Amino acid sequence: MIKRSFVGLTTPSFEYSVKDSSISGPQKVAPSKTVRLIIESPFSRSVALKAGNEVKTGQRLCIGNACAVSGVTGKIASVERYVNQAGKACTAVVIEVAASEQIDDAFANACRSNPRKAAQEFLANAPGNPPMSLFDEGKGLDTVVICGADSDLDIVTQQQVLEQSTDAVQKGIAAIKKITGISNIVAVAPQSLMQKAGSIGASAKVVSNAYPAANPYWIMKDIIGKVVPAGKSWEDLGVCIMSAEAAASIGRAFDEGKAPAEKIITVVKKNGGKLLVSARIGTLFSDVFAAAGISVSGGDRIIVGGPMTGYAAYAEDQAVEAGTDAIMVQGASDITPVSDYPCINCGECARICPAKIQVNMLVRFCEAAKYQDAADLYDLHCCIECGLCSYVCVSRMPIFQYIKLAKHELARMNTAEATND
Ligand code: SF4
Ligand code: SF4
Repeated sequence: MIKRSFVGLTTPSFEYSVKDSSISGPQKVAPSKTVRLIIESPFSRSVALKAGNEVKTGQRLCIGNACAVSGVTGKIASVERYVNQAGKACTAVVIEVAASEQIDDAFANACRSNPRKAAQEFLANAPGNPPMSLFDEGKGLDTVVICGADSDLDIVTQQQVLEQSTDAVQKGIAAIKKITGISNIVAVAPQSLMQKAGSIGASAKVVSNAYPAANPYWIMKDIIGKVVPAGKSWEDLGVCIMSAEAAASIGRAFDEGKAPAEKIITVVKKNGGKLLVSARIGTLFSDVFAAAGISVSGGDRIIVGGPMTGYAAYAEDQAVEAGTDAIMVQGASDITPVSDYPCINCGECARICPAKIQVNMLVRFCEAAKYQDAADLYDLHCCIECGLCSYVCVSRMPIFQYIKLAKHELARMNTAEATND
């Protein structure tokens, strides 16, 4: 079933990586000259953010209701159009980093008057992407799952955070309990980290190392004991799932009185070697590669995230974001190209699908842009986005990408219909 390696000559496996002493770091990466912050709002020439504006570390930079928090002190060099990997129109703010750092005290002041609002305003793009629904009073959440296991293969970021920043995760859990009143906190982690998971003020549960056991839908089914219905999310069942790093960010923010900005990333080199780095949000990939001793040549592929669910970055001047858990560089000779060969109906995809979807049929409808039929007839919304079907497809069809596109287009069409109603 497992036919090809992800990088170099490493043996492919459907088991999660376990962090061990062979993985060095985290090595600190300083931005060499500029950082690039992404604000999820379309670019407009009339925005208040302008080249030349001074920015402090921890300062909110907003366009309309969308904001990013600067992880550095410096001066805005440019404000540009940017389209993210999901095709959403955003704005990139490029900041020239100053030699000395000044901390913005707005978060500390906001905390004193209203910690819940301070979290909502300043922590949405903190390392680990804390889910803001957690602080929404009308959401009806009664359980929080803190995930100290990594959600894709070859990544050890969340394990690193749970192991080395246990104190910050524990403080985060205490803050969550105090602000939200939610007392049912569950920490899930690999067996090797059970002792840590049991020491942070949560009930500890083991997650298997067989992929995709750390997928949120799988955690819900196997650990929380609730099956998420098609088209719904775990939040509809009263459960908030967040990474250990998100909890650590909340803990550090309230402990230190400033929004954290240092992101832990697993870097996978072309030969399969791994190391951990720590970089400010907005740091360019080129700076990460320079620090990790990686040279990227024409034809190599940069993957943001893991080998099963990550996406390709198109340039080295893309930047570390709050959810960038891993960056992989695949050598040109290791890349298995996707193809436009037709499906030969071998059934490999359907046999491996953990959601028991008839993927060979689903992909036909997605490929033909019959998105509503894909949802109504072939369980598009039951897909848990594990990527296994793409990996095993003998025709090398980009099935996972077809599925993601189908979901994206359906969501866009439904939003447009709701707006027109
Ligand atoms: S990504 Fe593919 S294998 Fe995974 S749940 Fe979706 S259809 Fe099934
Ligand atoms: S694995 Fe690929 S070729 Fe085989 S049935 Fe699925 S989509 Fe078709």
